[in-house]
Amino acid sequence: MTAVTYSDIWDLDVFFKGGSDSSDFKNHLKHTEESIKQFALRVNDWTPQNSPEDSKYLKELLEYFEAAAKKLRQAGAFISCLQAQNTADQNAYTLDALVTSLRASFNTAIGAFENLITTITDEGWEQILADEELKNLSFVLTERRERAKEMLSKEEEAIINSLEVDGYHSWGQLYDLIVSKIKVPFIENGKEQKLSVGQAFNKFSSPVREVRAAIFKNWEQAWGEQADFLGKTLNHLSGFRLTVYDKRGWENVLAEPLKINRMKQETLETMWAVISENKQKLVDYLERKAKLLGLKKLSWFDLDAPYGNTESKMSYQEGAEFIEQNFAKFGEKMAVFAKKAFEDQWIEAADRPGKAPGGFCTFFPESEQSRIFMTYSGTPSNVSTLAHELGHGFHTYSMRGIHHLNRMYAMNVAETASTFAEMIVADASVKNAKNEVEKLVLLDDKIQRTVALLMNIHARFLFETRFYEERKLGPVSVESLNELMLQAQKDAYCNALEEYHPLFWASKLHFFITGVPFYNFPYTFGYLFSLGIYAQALEEGKGYEEKYIALLRDTASMTVEDLAQKHLQVNLTQKDFWQKAVGICLDDIDEFLTLTEG
Ligand SMILES: [Zn+2]
Repeated sequence: MTAVTYSDIWDLDVFFKGGSDSSDFKNHLKHTEESIKQFALRVNDWTPQNSPEDSKYLKELLEYFEAAAKKLRQAGAFISCLQAQNTADQNAYTLDALVTSLRASFNTAIGAFENLITTITDEGWEQILADEELKNLSFVLTERRERAKEMLSKEEEAIINSLEVDGYHSWGQLYDLIVSKIKVPFIENGKEQKLSVGQAFNKFSSPVREVRAAIFKNWEQAWGEQADFLGKTLNHLSGFRLTVYDKRGWENVLAEPLKINRMKQETLETMWAVISENKQKLVDYLERKAKLLGLKKLSWFDLDAPYGNTESKMSYQEGAEFIEQNFAKFGEKMAVFAKKAFEDQWIEAADRPGKAPGGFCTFFPESEQSRIFMTYSGTPSNVSTLAHELGHGFHTYSMRGIHHLNRMYAMNVAETASTFAEMIVADASVKNAKNEVEKLVLLDDKIQRTVALLMNIHARFLFETRFYEERKLGPVSVESLNELMLQAQKDAYCNALEEYHPLFWASKLHFFITGVPFYNFPYTFGYLFSLGIYAQALEEGKGYEEKYIALLRDTASMTVEDLAQKHLQVNLTQKDFWQKAVGICLDDIDEFLTLTEG
């Protein structure tokens, strides 16, 4: 094994020396601003002639685009690292505001650019894209042109944009404000405490059922008290969205989210159909879990309950070596990448106060390097998280050398490499378990995630599609929202639960996000897409890596259907691929059921 001892502190100085006081970084921001100006200038100077000259001009313009986009991303990555490693770093917040305004001016220029390319005739556009260098950007450029064409006029869209600030996004912000005021009472050690919703939510993973039941009762009540305000917020947010869709002539509420995720509705429908056909096994699992907990049926608040505790911990060094070894079973390149990330201090994993919660992987395009952030305390779930984030890093690493425009992948494929890497390590952990109890705990952890993605997210999707249809006819009352949610949960969980959470429409932030519509199905798609690839990799063994990397390199330059056809030789609108992916989840459940029999 390796003789090197890995540091759990990352190196940010290779990008900009001196943290949030860095003068290198201040210079970088100046250059970024200059790049954006240059790009905007080029856009304003261009009047397409529908002649070969256009190709030449467009190529130049895109060079400026790429330079500005990379600089901006480099800056954003640096700031998110600064903020995460020390949440009290005030300078980092000031820098963040600067980058936000640079991003806004870049977006304005991009909007103007997209509008400009709609003025080119179809023949002219074809000619432009026939150019050798522009050919490989044809998907992303045409996508931008098509999207701009489906919008209203430049002036009308500008009005919508400005009205959104106070009329759409503020509904989302109002939601955050209402939620920040909610307190959930909870009695602990004889004293009543007022918990924030985040603190209260954590109680749902308590191993003690009385704790979960008590917090759930108060949880429903606390959301119920705000339901009028939250219902009004949701009605106006969705009403605004529907009005804009209507003005643009978009009838199907799924059209926009599907387009963003570069997928067909048929694919989405096939995925849900396969999931629905396989629900019985998930129900078997829920019933077994209930029996093991001494219950007739599980309730909503039992779904995140841990099956037990594992004592075994791994030091950071051990965790790193475990990941490297198991990546190596799949392919050299993944293992070599992980080793490089550990050796070159790409990872901040130290367990110390002042760090932000959670984990992420961010990319510095000008340096072709990633940085991973997390807090590692040695649990099996920490090892999985580390593998997950390394998977993200491997994704961007695999895409090196590709034009920036062809690297902007959508949410539904963003989790492909991370889930894949996490699965390798999670499966290895189950195999590696020291005893049966530990094995069950690890398996249960995996299955809980499957239940969340195939049942909980399904309930969100069913609710949201049905709600938007009703909302088209007029405002939806709180009672109806509760009923719609209750029915969606019963459908998604096949009536397998004792008690449901009708106010889930209020307690789940995702229904109130205005940045992206329908923030649910891409999660399930991403999970199963990755598992389908994993299933193929298991069948084909080590030689699979080259194919896998080729797929990752194409994740941002074609539709998901084309991606799957080209690299996996499967048709995503057919059931086979999805059945294989769901099969991987069902195997875990089979093992769990066998181990807990009797
Ligand atoms: Zn991720």
